[in-house]
Amino acid sequence: MAKRDYYQVLGVSKDASKDALKSAYRTLALKYHPDRNKSPEAEARFKEISEAYAVLSDDEKRKQYDMFGHAGIGQRYSQEDLFRGVNFNEVFRDLGFGFGGFNSIFDMFFSGQQTRPGGPQRGANLRYDLELSLEEVASGVEKRITVPRTEACDVCQGSGAQPGTEPTVCPQCNGAGRVEHARSTGFARFIQVTTCNTCGGRGRIIESPCQTCRGSGVVSRERSIEVKIPAGVESGSRLRLNGEGEAGLRGGPPGDLYVVVRVKPHEVFHRANSDLQIEVPIGLAQAALGAEIEVPTIDGKAKLQIPAGTQPYTVFRLRGKGLPRLRGFGRGNELVRVNVVIPTKLTSKQRELLLELAEEMNEKVKVKRGIFG
Ligand code: ZN
Repeated sequence: MAKRDYYQVLGVSKDASKDALKSAYRTLALKYHPDRNKSPEAEARFKEISEAYAVLSDDEKRKQYDMFGHAGIGQRYSQEDLFRGVNFNEVFRDLGFGFGGFNSIFDMFFSGQQTRPGGPQRGANLRYDLELSLEEVASGVEKRITVPRTEACDVCQGSGAQPGTEPTVCPQCNGAGRVEHARSTGFARFIQVTTCNTCGGRGRIIESPCQTCRGSGVVSRERSIEVKIPAGVESGSRLRLNGEGEAGLRGGPPGDLYVVVRVKPHEVFHRANSDLQIEVPIGLAQAALGAEIEVPTIDGKAKLQIPAGTQPYTVFRLRGKGLPRLRGFGRGNELVRVNVVIPTKLTSKQRELLLELAEEMNEKVKVKRGIFG
Protein backbone atom coordinates (compact mmCIF):
# COMPACT_ATOMS: atom_id res chain seq x y z
CA MET A 1 0.00 0.00 0.00
CA ALA A 2 1.44 3.35 -1.00
CA LYS A 3 2.11 5.72 1.85
CA ARG A 4 -0.17 8.72 1.95
CA ASP A 5 1.18 12.23 1.98
CA TYR A 6 1.73 13.41 5.56
CA TYR A 7 0.00 16.74 4.99
CA GLN A 8 -2.97 14.96 3.46
CA VAL A 9 -3.05 12.52 6.38
CA LEU A 10 -3.42 15.41 8.82
CA GLY A 11 -5.64 17.39 6.45
CA VAL A 12 -3.44 20.49 6.54
CA SER A 13 -1.78 22.63 3.87
CA LYS A 14 1.93 22.43 3.02
CA ASP A 15 2.65 25.67 4.83
CA ALA A 16 0.73 24.78 7.98
CA SER A 17 2.12 26.36 11.15
CA LYS A 18 3.17 24.28 14.13
CA ASP A 19 0.00 25.23 15.96
CA ALA A 20 -2.14 24.21 13.01
CA LEU A 21 -0.35 20.84 12.87
CA LYS A 22 -0.83 20.31 16.56
CA SER A 23 -4.49 21.09 16.51
CA ALA A 24 -5.14 18.92 13.44
CA TYR A 25 -3.28 16.04 15.02
CA ARG A 26 -5.11 16.43 18.29
CA THR A 27 -8.54 16.35 16.68
CA LEU A 28 -7.67 13.20 14.74
CA ALA A 29 -5.93 11.52 17.68
CA LEU A 30 -8.97 11.97 19.87
CA LYS A 31 -11.00 10.29 17.17
CA TYR A 32 -8.69 7.35 16.46
CA HIS A 33 -6.88 6.55 19.69
CA PRO A 34 -7.35 2.80 20.18
CA ASP A 35 -8.45 3.39 23.78
CA ARG A 36 -11.45 5.30 22.49
CA ASN A 37 -12.06 3.85 19.08
CA LYS A 38 -12.52 0.10 18.86
CA SER A 39 -12.98 -0.15 15.10
CA PRO A 40 -10.36 -2.37 13.47
CA GLU A 41 -8.86 0.41 11.33
CA ALA A 42 -8.42 2.78 14.26
CA GLU A 43 -5.01 1.55 15.33
CA ALA A 44 -3.53 1.79 11.83
CA ARG A 45 -5.06 5.21 11.36
CA PHE A 46 -3.76 6.33 14.73
CA LYS A 47 -0.28 5.19 13.83
CA GLU A 48 -0.48 6.96 10.47
CA ILE A 49 -1.50 10.32 11.96
CA SER A 50 1.04 10.00 14.78
CA GLU A 51 3.84 9.35 12.31
CA ALA A 52 2.75 12.28 10.15
CA TYR A 53 2.70 14.52 13.20
CA ALA A 54 6.05 13.22 14.46
CA VAL A 55 7.73 14.08 11.15
CA LEU A 56 6.05 17.42 10.41
CA SER A 57 6.44 18.78 13.93
CA ASP A 58 10.23 18.35 13.73
CA ASP A 59 11.88 21.09 11.65
CA GLU A 60 14.66 18.94 10.29
CA LYS A 61 12.47 15.94 9.45
CA ARG A 62 9.88 18.22 7.87
CA LYS A 63 12.54 19.83 5.68
CA GLN A 64 13.80 16.41 4.61
CA TYR A 65 10.25 15.29 3.84
CA ASP A 66 9.44 18.44 1.88
CA MET A 67 12.54 17.97 -0.25
CA PHE A 68 12.65 14.23 -0.78
CA GLY A 69 9.27 12.84 0.29
CA HIS A 70 8.81 9.47 1.95
CA ALA A 71 11.89 8.07 0.22
CA GLY A 72 14.08 10.76 1.78
CA ILE A 73 12.63 10.11 5.21
CA GLY A 74 13.03 6.35 4.89
CA GLN A 75 16.64 6.69 3.83
CA ARG A 76 17.60 8.81 6.76
CA TYR A 77 15.46 7.68 9.69
CA SER A 78 14.37 4.33 11.03
CA GLN A 79 10.76 3.97 12.17
CA GLU A 80 11.96 4.38 15.74
CA ASP A 81 13.90 7.52 14.88
CA LEU A 82 10.75 9.10 13.45
CA PHE A 83 9.03 9.08 16.81
CA ARG A 84 12.04 9.86 18.90
CA GLY A 85 11.93 13.20 20.65
CA VAL A 86 8.26 13.92 19.96
CA ASN A 87 6.42 15.11 23.01
CA PHE A 88 2.96 13.69 22.50
CA ASN A 89 1.81 14.51 26.01
CA GLU A 90 2.36 18.17 25.35
CA VAL A 91 -0.21 18.03 22.55
CA PHE A 92 -2.92 16.95 24.93
CA ARG A 93 -1.88 18.84 28.02
CA ASP A 94 -4.47 21.58 27.83
CA LEU A 95 -7.38 19.21 27.39
CA GLY A 96 -7.83 19.28 31.12
CA PHE A 97 -8.45 15.60 31.60
CA GLY A 98 -6.31 12.54 31.73
CA PHE A 99 -5.84 11.07 28.34
CA GLY A 100 -4.02 7.85 28.93
CA GLY A 101 -1.60 6.06 26.76
CA PHE A 102 0.38 8.81 25.16
CA ASN A 103 3.44 8.26 27.27
CA SER A 104 3.66 4.84 25.80
CA ILE A 105 3.04 5.69 22.16
CA PHE A 106 6.57 4.76 21.33
CA ASP A 107 6.30 1.40 23.11
CA MET A 108 2.97 0.76 21.58
CA PHE A 109 4.29 0.91 18.05
CA PHE A 110 7.67 -0.63 18.39
CA SER A 111 8.93 -2.45 21.37
CA GLY A 112 8.11 -5.93 22.46
CA GLN A 113 5.79 -4.45 25.06
CA GLN A 114 2.44 -4.95 23.49
CA THR A 115 -0.78 -3.17 24.22
CA ARG A 116 -2.33 -6.62 23.92
CA PRO A 117 -0.13 -9.33 25.41
CA GLY A 118 0.06 -12.28 23.10
CA GLY A 119 -0.97 -10.21 20.09
CA PRO A 120 1.09 -9.80 16.95
CA GLN A 121 4.63 -8.77 17.73
CA ARG A 122 7.06 -7.05 15.42
CA GLY A 123 10.35 -8.89 14.89
CA ALA A 124 13.56 -7.50 16.40
CA ASN A 125 15.91 -5.30 14.40
CA LEU A 126 19.28 -6.76 13.51
CA ARG A 127 22.67 -5.15 13.04
CA TYR A 128 25.39 -6.28 10.67
CA ASP A 129 28.85 -4.67 10.72
CA LEU A 130 30.35 -4.47 7.25
CA GLU A 131 33.97 -3.59 6.59
CA LEU A 132 34.81 -1.83 3.31
CA SER A 133 38.01 -0.78 1.61
CA LEU A 134 38.44 2.80 0.47
CA GLU A 135 38.40 1.56 -3.13
CA GLU A 136 34.96 0.06 -2.52
CA VAL A 137 33.79 3.34 -1.04
CA ALA A 138 35.03 5.15 -4.14
CA SER A 139 33.20 2.97 -6.63
CA GLY A 140 30.19 1.84 -4.60
CA VAL A 141 29.79 -1.89 -4.26
CA GLU A 142 27.34 -4.74 -4.01
CA LYS A 143 28.07 -7.09 -1.16
CA ARG A 144 26.57 -10.43 -0.36
CA ILE A 145 26.25 -10.84 3.39
CA THR A 146 25.07 -13.80 5.41
CA VAL A 147 22.70 -12.93 8.20
CA PRO A 148 21.56 -15.43 10.83
CA ARG A 149 17.96 -14.61 11.64
CA THR A 150 14.55 -16.08 12.30
CA GLU A 151 12.05 -16.38 9.47
CA ALA A 152 8.44 -17.44 9.33
CA CYS A 153 8.26 -21.25 9.22
CA ASP A 154 7.39 -22.21 5.68
CA VAL A 155 5.76 -25.50 6.70
CA CYS A 156 3.00 -23.84 8.74
CA GLN A 157 3.33 -20.35 7.19
CA GLY A 158 4.11 -18.94 10.63
CA SER A 159 0.90 -20.10 12.29
CA GLY A 160 2.68 -22.66 14.47
CA ALA A 161 -0.07 -25.22 13.79
CA GLN A 162 0.55 -28.51 11.99
CA PRO A 163 -0.52 -28.16 8.33
CA GLY A 164 -4.15 -29.19 7.97
CA THR A 165 -4.95 -28.04 11.49
CA GLU A 166 -5.64 -24.57 12.76
CA PRO A 167 -5.23 -22.87 16.10
CA THR A 168 -8.49 -23.05 18.01
CA VAL A 169 -10.16 -20.38 20.09
CA CYS A 170 -9.06 -20.66 23.71
CA PRO A 171 -11.97 -22.15 25.72
CA GLN A 172 -10.84 -20.41 28.91
CA CYS A 173 -11.08 -16.82 27.68
CA ASN A 174 -13.10 -17.35 24.50
CA GLY A 175 -10.37 -15.72 22.45
CA ALA A 176 -10.15 -12.52 24.47
CA GLY A 177 -6.72 -13.34 25.90
CA ARG A 178 -7.84 -11.90 29.25
CA VAL A 179 -9.94 -13.24 32.08
CA GLU A 180 -11.89 -11.29 34.66
CA HIS A 181 -11.98 -12.30 38.29
CA ALA A 182 -14.73 -10.73 40.33
CA ARG A 183 -14.21 -10.30 44.04
CA SER A 184 -16.88 -9.07 46.41
CA THR A 185 -16.00 -7.36 49.68
CA GLY A 186 -19.55 -6.74 50.83
CA PHE A 187 -19.41 -3.05 49.97
CA ALA A 188 -18.03 -3.20 46.51
CA ARG A 189 -17.23 -5.56 43.75
CA PHE A 190 -13.75 -5.49 42.31
CA ILE A 191 -13.02 -6.82 38.90
CA GLN A 192 -9.49 -7.84 38.26
CA VAL A 193 -8.42 -8.46 34.69
CA THR A 194 -5.48 -10.75 34.06
CA THR A 195 -3.85 -12.37 31.07
CA CYS A 196 -5.40 -15.77 30.37
CA ASN A 197 -2.90 -18.39 31.45
CA THR A 198 -4.34 -21.14 29.32
CA CYS A 199 -3.36 -19.41 26.07
CA GLY A 200 -0.82 -16.91 27.45
CA GLY A 201 -2.91 -14.01 26.17
CA ARG A 202 -2.94 -15.19 22.58
CA GLY A 203 -6.63 -16.04 22.63
CA ARG A 204 -5.82 -19.14 20.61
CA ILE A 205 -4.31 -22.47 21.41
CA ILE A 206 -2.41 -24.76 19.12
CA GLU A 207 -3.52 -28.33 19.69
CA SER A 208 -1.16 -29.96 17.21
CA PRO A 209 1.98 -27.83 16.95
CA CYS A 210 3.92 -27.74 13.69
CA GLN A 211 6.77 -30.25 13.98
CA THR A 212 9.23 -28.12 12.06
CA CYS A 213 9.07 -25.05 14.31
CA ARG A 214 7.61 -26.75 17.41
CA GLY A 215 4.66 -24.38 17.34
CA SER A 216 6.68 -21.16 17.48
CA GLY A 217 5.92 -20.26 13.86
CA VAL A 218 9.53 -19.21 13.26
CA VAL A 219 12.71 -21.05 12.30
CA SER A 220 16.38 -20.04 12.38
CA ARG A 221 17.99 -19.44 9.00
CA GLU A 222 21.19 -18.16 7.53
CA ARG A 223 20.00 -15.83 4.86
CA SER A 224 22.27 -14.49 2.16
CA ILE A 225 21.34 -10.93 1.28
CA GLU A 226 22.64 -8.66 -1.45
CA VAL A 227 23.42 -5.18 -0.12
CA LYS A 228 23.98 -2.22 -2.42
CA ILE A 229 26.47 0.15 -0.84
CA PRO A 230 26.27 3.63 -2.38
CA ALA A 231 29.58 5.24 -3.31
CA GLY A 232 30.94 7.72 -0.78
CA VAL A 233 29.67 6.12 2.46
CA GLU A 234 31.48 6.95 5.66
CA SER A 235 32.46 4.89 8.67
CA GLY A 236 29.42 4.68 10.87
CA SER A 237 26.91 5.07 8.02
CA ARG A 238 23.83 2.95 8.63
CA LEU A 239 21.88 1.39 5.81
CA ARG A 240 18.43 0.19 6.70
CA LEU A 241 17.04 -2.83 4.90
CA ASN A 242 13.35 -2.76 5.46
CA GLY A 243 11.83 -5.98 6.80
CA GLU A 244 15.10 -7.96 6.65
CA GLY A 245 15.36 -8.37 10.43
CA GLU A 246 13.94 -11.11 12.64
CA ALA A 247 10.53 -12.54 11.79
CA GLY A 248 7.51 -11.11 13.59
CA LEU A 249 5.51 -13.30 15.91
CA ARG A 250 1.85 -14.21 15.55
CA GLY A 251 1.40 -12.33 12.31
CA GLY A 252 3.50 -9.29 13.31
CA PRO A 253 5.75 -7.66 10.70
CA PRO A 254 9.47 -8.49 10.55
CA GLY A 255 12.06 -6.13 12.03
CA ASP A 256 14.64 -4.23 9.98
CA LEU A 257 18.26 -5.03 9.25
CA TYR A 258 20.80 -2.27 9.82
CA VAL A 259 24.07 -2.59 7.96
CA VAL A 260 26.67 -0.46 9.73
CA VAL A 261 29.66 0.45 7.58
CA ARG A 262 33.27 0.61 8.74
CA VAL A 263 35.86 1.85 6.28
CA LYS A 264 39.29 0.26 6.66
CA PRO A 265 42.26 2.65 6.86
CA HIS A 266 44.11 2.92 3.55
CA GLU A 267 47.84 2.40 3.06
CA VAL A 268 48.51 5.62 1.20
CA PHE A 269 45.37 7.74 1.22
CA HIS A 270 44.00 9.60 4.16
CA ARG A 271 40.35 10.52 3.95
CA ALA A 272 38.88 13.90 4.84
CA ASN A 273 35.16 13.74 4.01
CA SER A 274 35.10 13.46 0.23
CA ASP A 275 38.71 14.58 -0.23
CA LEU A 276 41.68 12.23 -0.29
CA GLN A 277 45.08 13.29 0.99
CA ILE A 278 48.38 11.79 -0.03
CA GLU A 279 52.05 12.63 0.44
CA VAL A 280 54.32 12.16 -2.58
CA PRO A 281 58.14 12.41 -2.59
CA ILE A 282 59.90 14.52 -5.27
CA GLY A 283 63.59 15.15 -5.84
CA LEU A 284 65.63 18.28 -5.25
CA ALA A 285 66.06 18.93 -8.97
CA GLN A 286 62.40 18.26 -9.70
CA ALA A 287 61.37 20.83 -7.11
CA ALA A 288 63.82 23.41 -8.40
CA LEU A 289 63.43 22.85 -12.14
CA GLY A 290 59.84 21.64 -12.37
CA ALA A 291 58.61 18.26 -13.56
CA GLU A 292 55.67 16.19 -14.58
CA ILE A 293 55.22 13.34 -12.13
CA GLU A 294 52.79 10.46 -11.89
CA VAL A 295 50.77 10.15 -8.67
CA PRO A 296 48.46 7.37 -7.51
CA THR A 297 44.72 8.05 -7.41
CA ILE A 298 42.02 5.89 -5.84
CA ASP A 299 41.18 4.42 -9.25
CA GLY A 300 44.49 4.55 -11.13
CA LYS A 301 47.17 7.13 -11.80
CA ALA A 302 47.19 10.78 -12.74
CA LYS A 303 49.79 13.23 -14.01
CA LEU A 304 50.72 16.17 -11.83
CA GLN A 305 52.69 19.23 -12.98
CA ILE A 306 55.31 20.37 -10.48
CA PRO A 307 56.21 23.97 -11.32
CA ALA A 308 59.81 25.14 -11.07
CA GLY A 309 60.64 26.45 -7.63
CA THR A 310 58.17 24.27 -5.72
CA GLN A 311 58.73 24.45 -1.98
CA PRO A 312 58.59 21.43 0.37
CA TYR A 313 55.10 20.54 1.59
CA THR A 314 53.30 22.47 -1.12
CA VAL A 315 49.81 21.00 -1.58
CA PHE A 316 48.50 20.50 -5.11
CA ARG A 317 44.87 19.76 -5.85
CA LEU A 318 43.71 17.17 -8.34
CA ARG A 319 40.16 18.27 -8.98
CA GLY A 320 37.50 15.55 -8.89
CA LYS A 321 39.96 12.78 -8.00
CA GLY A 322 38.53 12.33 -4.52
CA LEU A 323 35.53 10.29 -3.38
CA PRO A 324 31.98 10.65 -4.69
CA ARG A 325 29.85 12.81 -2.45
CA LEU A 326 27.17 10.77 -0.71
CA ARG A 327 24.76 13.67 -0.65
CA GLY A 328 25.02 16.08 -3.47
CA PHE A 329 26.82 15.76 -6.75
CA GLY A 330 30.28 15.18 -8.07
CA ARG A 331 33.41 14.07 -6.33
CA GLY A 332 35.84 15.54 -3.86
CA ASN A 333 39.48 16.33 -4.71
CA GLU A 334 42.78 14.60 -4.21
CA LEU A 335 45.19 16.76 -2.26
CA VAL A 336 48.81 15.93 -3.03
CA ARG A 337 51.41 17.18 -0.60
CA VAL A 338 54.90 17.04 -2.04
CA ASN A 339 57.80 16.17 0.18
CA VAL A 340 61.16 17.27 -1.25
CA VAL A 341 63.52 14.45 -0.44
CA ILE A 342 67.12 15.32 0.37
CA PRO A 343 69.45 12.54 -0.80
CA THR A 344 71.32 10.75 1.98
CA LYS A 345 73.66 8.52 0.00
CA LEU A 346 75.59 10.20 -2.78
CA THR A 347 77.74 8.81 -5.53
CA SER A 348 81.04 10.66 -5.95
CA LYS A 349 79.72 12.32 -9.10
CA GLN A 350 76.57 13.53 -7.34
CA ARG A 351 78.73 14.80 -4.53
CA GLU A 352 80.95 16.72 -6.96
CA LEU A 353 77.94 18.26 -8.67
CA LEU A 354 76.35 19.30 -5.40
CA LEU A 355 79.60 20.93 -4.26
CA GLU A 356 79.79 22.76 -7.55
CA LEU A 357 76.22 23.89 -7.06
CA ALA A 358 76.99 25.06 -3.57
CA GLU A 359 79.94 27.07 -4.81
CA GLU A 360 77.84 28.60 -7.59
CA MET A 361 75.12 29.54 -5.10
CA ASN A 362 77.49 30.85 -2.49
CA GLU A 363 76.39 28.25 0.03
CA LYS A 364 79.03 27.44 2.61
CA VAL A 365 79.33 23.71 3.17
CA LYS A 366 81.53 21.64 5.45
CA VAL A 367 83.77 20.13 2.81
CA LYS A 368 85.59 21.61 -0.17
CA ARG A 369 85.69 20.29 -3.70
CA GLY A 370 88.29 17.75 -4.55
CA ILE A 371 89.43 16.91 -0.99
CA PHE A 372 88.20 13.33 -1.17
CA GLY A 373 87.98 13.16 -4.93
ZN1 ZN B 1 5.91 -24.36 11.63
